Amino acid sequence: MKKKRGKWVKHPVLAVFIVFIMLLVFALVLVLHRVIDKQFLRQHPEYVDVMETAGEETDTEKNRQNGKNEIDYSVMSGTVTTVSEATPGQAFVADKKALSLFRGYMFHIVLPEGIKAEELRFQDDYMKRRLTIYYPVEYFEEFSTHEPEGLMTDVKRWKYKQGVTQGKLAITFSKTFAFHYCIEDGVLYVKYGSPSYYYDDIVVIDPGHGGEDYGAYTYNQSYIEKDIINAVNNYLYYDYIKQKKIMVYFTRVEDENYSLAQRIGLANDINADLFISLHCNFLTSWQGAARGVETAYNQKDASKPYNSKWLAEKLQNTFSHAVGLDNRGIIKGADLKVLRLAKMPACLLEMGFISDSVDAATLSNGSMQKRAAEAIEQVVEEALEEMKHE
Ligand SMILES: [Zn+2]
Repeated sequence: MKKKRGKWVKHPVLAVFIVFIMLLVFALVLVLHRVIDKQFLRQHPEYVDVMETAGEETDTEKNRQNGKNEIDYSVMSGTVTTVSEATPGQAFVADKKALSLFRGYMFHIVLPEGIKAEELRFQDDYMKRRLTIYYPVEYFEEFSTHEPEGLMTDVKRWKYKQGVTQGKLAITFSKTFAFHYCIEDGVLYVKYGSPSYYYDDIVVIDPGHGGEDYGAYTYNQSYIEKDIINAVNNYLYYDYIKQKKIMVYFTRVEDENYSLAQRIGLANDINADLFISLHCNFLTSWQGAARGVETAYNQKDASKPYNSKWLAEKLQNTFSHAVGLDNRGIIKGADLKVLRLAKMPACLLEMGFISDSVDAATLSNGSMQKRAAEAIEQVVEEALEEMKHE
């Protein structure tokens, strides 16, 4: 067979020349790209950190396992710099370099001279989307002249306020964020981004009643729905702040009240993986008698395979078995606001009827409340595990 020789082989000089031209064009495009980027960043400083770290997913320590934190509440209630309460979504990092490993927007505040890191206190009121930085009141004047710099994205306002012993800077955001802090050379750096940037598994637990909203209650208020819910919720809260795996946001930790829209809004806002609302059932005597556990789900949630019904079935069976109350099965609840608006598998657990003497006695018992909490934790863990096997 006669071999056909390509014309490039006949003209090696031409071939080299063409490759050279192509390389030149490529280099030019690269340079131009960098110039445009730099120009853009000069005009939009809030993007600096996002662009610096986007795509790289930084491999120093693999950014603490793929850019995610281990949840360390001890840092938050901490020894070095303190956060008033063990709220989720806050972490301290060693220095600016460590901070740069995390995605998010960043701002900084030049600290008043002489102030010590441990004199600062951070509080993340995530339901109010507000970060408050507290400091000793003697620094108030100087502090309030140091505006946060570089802070713009999703910030609604910030305010300095002078108290008796402490001053504070309260920053209100238009979304719920998680925060990373560091202090270097007298400057406080704060990086913020969606909690899902920093944490793998995010769950929202919603104690269905609190504050002025008592929920259902029996004659003489011998059993009050919000009290039972809060007791179970407390077990959950103290268990979850001891672990480092699952980031749990509670729609209330104290006896307070937020609207349904705010509570499910939190879960949607932070891209939670699961949402569980806690309630107790009630029937007046003329309505008849009923007892046992029920779980409401959104029958219109068509996500597959992990949807509202999938979560409800798990919770219903595990919970009723754990507390030893009748299993009434799952019920349709698409008309419930928190289920209707949820963008993740969500369900509403009716732990039992406080109008029933057996149910009420069981749910008011401390060791049963603990067992109830453990059953919910077990379901959460199993559900998250299953969702990873997609
Ligand atoms: Zn209720």
